[in-house]
Amino acid sequence: MLAMFRAVLAPVVLAIGFGGVFGTAAQAPSAKKAEPPKTMRLYIFDCGLLNIAPAGVARYHVTPAETGETRMPVPCFLVAHPKGTLMWDVGVIPDETVEAMASKGGAHFDVNPVSAAVVTRTLKSQLAAIGYSPSDITYVAISHAHKDHSANLNEFASATWLARPAEREFMWQKGNERVEASFYTKLEHSKSIDISKNESKDGEYDVFGDGKVIIKAAPGHTPGHQVLILQLVSLGRLMIAGDLYHYLPERTFHRAPPDNEFSVQQSADSRAKIEEYVKKTNTTLWIEHEWAANAKLKKSPAYYE
Ligand SMILES: [Zn+2]
Repeated sequence: MLAMFRAVLAPVVLAIGFGGVFGTAAQAPSAKKAEPPKTMRLYIFDCGLLNIAPAGVARYHVTPAETGETRMPVPCFLVAHPKGTLMWDVGVIPDETVEAMASKGGAHFDVNPVSAAVVTRTLKSQLAAIGYSPSDITYVAISHAHKDHSANLNEFASATWLARPAEREFMWQKGNERVEASFYTKLEHSKSIDISKNESKDGEYDVFGDGKVIIKAAPGHTPGHQVLILQLVSLGRLMIAGDLYHYLPERTFHRAPPDNEFSVQQSADSRAKIEEYVKKTNTTLWIEHEWAANAKLKKSPAYYE
């Protein structure tokens, strides 16, 4: 009797459980198609998290005692500007894998031996909830091509890719274990603008021509690593700093860049230049992988103006 009761009950409980976790993410009806906003908006999406092993923390020249939390969030960002949209960083596991693993409690992916990703929500479902589909996006750019920033690039193959030749070369370099080329097969021949040919002498590229969305070179972590600077009404000047830092104590205690940077010297130079820049321009710097800071941010469908 008890066994039969369990057999009947179990699927119901499972259905409720997964409905709660994935229902809103995977099956939510799409919102009405978004109109260009009058004031620029920044949306932040949950593109998963990274569990970092002790050796993976030590690589940043900080200790778990200093960082407090060792896990790293993986955020994705959408800038909705009156003249178009920019997708910035696109997650660590492709949406199709996340969808296929939805019934297994989320998708898992070992980025490297010290970093394991878990993703439970697709990027496209979070875009759909605010009225966008990947094919609506005007521009796509990534801070850099490492696996935890590039997973859904193929979805944005119809957008114009804002790319640096140095990163492009790195992305298709044979035997490069820091990237997963299958994440961006469709970008090899997609529409693209070469930032290096259109930037200021300070390595700044003005995406919409009004100074409100700037992509700025900050090489070292990878050859074409870059940061995003936004001029928002409510937050003022904001820098989304890619992987210039990973943990806050690296910045606070002026620790040297990780030893496995593409170029430690370039990273150190970029950090110095960016620190000078944010001070001079009164810009707030966000570390994308910083847990405590990310936890406090408004997530889509809420947004910053
Ligand atoms: Zn990263």
